[in-house]
Amino acid sequence: MSSSKAKHRMTKQRKLILEVLRNTNTHPTADWIYEQVKKEIPNISLGTVYRNLRLLSEMGKIQVLDFGSSYSRFDGNSHHHYHFICDNCEKIYDLDIPFDEKLNEKVNNETPFLVKNHRIDFTGLCPECQKKI
Ligand code: ZN
Ligand code: MN
Repeated sequence: MSSSKAKHRMTKQRKLILEVLRNTNTHPTADWIYEQVKKEIPNISLGTVYRNLRLLSEMGKIQVLDFGSSYSRFDGNSHHHYHFICDNCEKIYDLDIPFDEKLNEKVNNETPFLVKNHRIDFTGLCPECQKKI
């Protein structure tokens, strides 16, 4: 296989991974993305999916959401926004509230730290789980 062909295939894989991620709002794991991508590219490996996810994150096209010890979740929405994580079903929801740009400035002014970004994850019960509990 020529290197240009390998490069082309890489681009096709990356595009599909991005498309899969942009078409869901569930903030999936790499395993879930892998299962979806495999339907179109059966011989793709999980390693390739991971590599492309890392690359897409470095390119600023997606966000990686790390939650300590649990698996990373991926977000096709690269714009700053807040999340709500349900304590019961562990689903991750996007919050439709404005991103507080002033918060970085506040911490920059009031602490010795040089802030570049902030992330806020709210926790509690989602509407579905409020009905059940
Ligand atoms: Zn829930
Ligand atoms: Mn999100």
